[in-house]
Amino acid sequence: MEVTSLYVEPAVADDAADPPALEALDVFKIYRSGPVETVALRGLDLVIERGEIVALLGPSGCGKSTFLALAAGLDEPSAGEVRAFGRPLTRLDGQELARYRARDLAIVFQQDNLWPDLTAEQNVRLSLRLAGRRASPLDARAALAEFDLADRASTKAGNLSGGEQQRVAIAAAAAREAALVLCDEPTGELDLANEERVTGALRRLRDDYGATVVVVTHSPHLAGVCDRSIMLRDGRLA
Ligand code: ADP
Ligand code: MG
Repeated sequence: MEVTSLYVEPAVADDAADPPALEALDVFKIYRSGPVETVALRGLDLVIERGEIVALLGPSGCGKSTFLALAAGLDEPSAGEVRAFGRPLTRLDGQELARYRARDLAIVFQQDNLWPDLTAEQNVRLSLRLAGRRASPLDARAALAEFDLADRASTKAGNLSGGEQQRVAIAAAAAREAALVLCDEPTGELDLANEERVTGALRRLRDDYGATVVVVTHSPHLAGVCDRSIMLRDGRLA
């Protein structure tokens, strides 16, 4: 059984022919709490083309997670512009932004990506439904099988190993045909064997499902399977 129709046009696709998946144009992000200002991004410029898998590297505090939050439309830049598929995210209206987040985007954090009391299959089905996709049990099971999780379909997510949980999250992204997958240290909690399996699954998201994958990581192994690496330092390209 295969997951059919592996790639769809992003809901926010521009008229321009194949704009990049992500662009940061002179992006600044300043966090203010009371009198304290933290400049997390200071003039970040980068382009990530469609269908790339890119490692985002750099020391702790250099702005990697901040950039992912902007790319996910969860926060806005203080100055500059972030574009996804050619569209400036701050210029999307509420409905367009919600659609971008629900349909085009998948986010994989270090952990806690699943509803722990639902089974693996229920997690994928719920993810499909929230994305406005057909929530057929077959699609969810097929996606789990594609990522070697067929025998875990009926296990509660909270009882899966860390690596299995990450692969369920990745299978859900594949099932909903997420065009852009943003990962923040997805193998940070895993031993080497599980890191390699999750790394393989991320690579497959790009190779077999056409997703653009951006992955913040400290893992040389994970960075090594990416098409290229982008290094940040002090809120901009190193
Ligand atoms: P990285 O993911 O590369 O470790 P972050 O993007 O999380 O870096 O953080 C960049 C800088 O912004 C750090 O100095 C961090 O302390 C600060 N920062 C991040 N989020 C917030 C926030 N919500 N409020 C205030 N400062 C923040
Ligand atoms: Mg971070």
